[in-house]
Amino acid sequence: MRLVVLPGDGIGPEIVAATEAVLEAASQRFQLGIATTRELAGQASIARYGRPVRPELVELVRAADALLLGPTSTLDYAGEPGPSAIFRKALDLFANIRPARTYPGLPGRLGAMDLVVVRENTEGFYADRNMAHGNADILVTEDVAIAIRKITREGSTRIARAGFELAMRRPRRRLSLVHKANVLTTSDGLFLAACRDVARDFPEVAVEEIIVDAMMAHLVRDPARFDVIVTTNMFGDILSDLTAEMSGSLGMGGSLNAGARHAMAQAAHGSAPDIAGRDLANPMSLVLSAAQLLEWHGRGRGEPRFGEAAKAIEQAVAACLAAGEKTRDVGGGKGTREVGAALVRRLSAPAAA
Ligand code: ATP
Repeated sequence: MRLVVLPGDGIGPEIVAATEAVLEAASQRFQLGIATTRELAGQASIARYGRPVRPELVELVRAADALLLGPTSTLDYAGEPGPSAIFRKALDLFANIRPARTYPGLPGRLGAMDLVVVRENTEGFYADRNMAHGNADILVTEDVAIAIRKITREGSTRIARAGFELAMRRPRRRLSLVHKANVLTTSDGLFLAACRDVARDFPEVAVEEIIVDAMMAHLVRDPARFDVIVTTNMFGDILSDLTAEMSGSLGMGGSLNAGARHAMAQAAHGSAPDIAGRDLANPMSLVLSAAQLLEWHGRGRGEPRFGEAAKAIEQAVAACLAAGEKTRDVGGGKGTREVGAALVRRLSAPAAA
């Protein structure tokens, strides 16, 4: 597996270092043969090359099997696309898959849950994603602004398919379609119609349709009820921050950006400048994202040992949480480096997990 690793900004280098060590341990135990190329993206790349991502780097990533990207700042690119947006676009990473679950060692704020938000990633209400030229967040006059939300049948169909396929791999086989078609009758109406078409191919999956505002209430009232949640871009962005926090901390928020041929592991949170360089960041978000990446790679290649490695990493996370080997954001007292080392120890000597 040819993996490109980009440390990113803020806490990125710290949690990427911990994640690389975990991947190295997994590679050894499961003979994954991960070959890593380390490159620069984000602020470090601007300092060295004058731009957040060099065109050669995009080509390198395109030729590789997978990408691990540390968090990059959402604010520091002066309105220009940052590394995350550049790779998402260049590799057409249309599915943003964000699991949120509790563990015995981290019971969550509102009770047990184990769900996955499957968020469309290439259109919706995002100004940078829905115009061939220009920006969809428009100032009409000094006092009037409009934004354009794009929904396509193709985008809705492929995210629905990703969601149903995921639901089929999970024991409960439940799927919630989250929308606002009662108000956005045309755009969310199209989204729902496309999802219903896909649903016909998956009769084993139990489907429900929930309006996004009601969904917030249902989630905090009974999070255990939900399994796979499929939704449009901005609803998914908001919803998945809520579910990450409900699971214990943004620092537990793993995330995979997947396309037909490429995938990028990236924590659900940002670069956390408030705690950068202080050995405080929780590395588990990116470690769990890397586990998702291994599972995705193995599934695509028909190589089950990658999926086994992903499971072993999740077990090591659960064991560390249960043993109190955790960072401050999830109620522990350990540093990023110590938690990374504990994960490696448990992964390398499974009896300890
Ligand atoms: P950015 O501008 O990069 O989006 P931000 O601080 O606005 O950064 P996040 O990075 O998502 O947004 O951080 C939100 C809050 O969650 C911050 O208080 C941050 O310290 C905390 N946080 C985020 N990630 C982690 C982590 N891995 N471990 C611990 N705390 C985290």
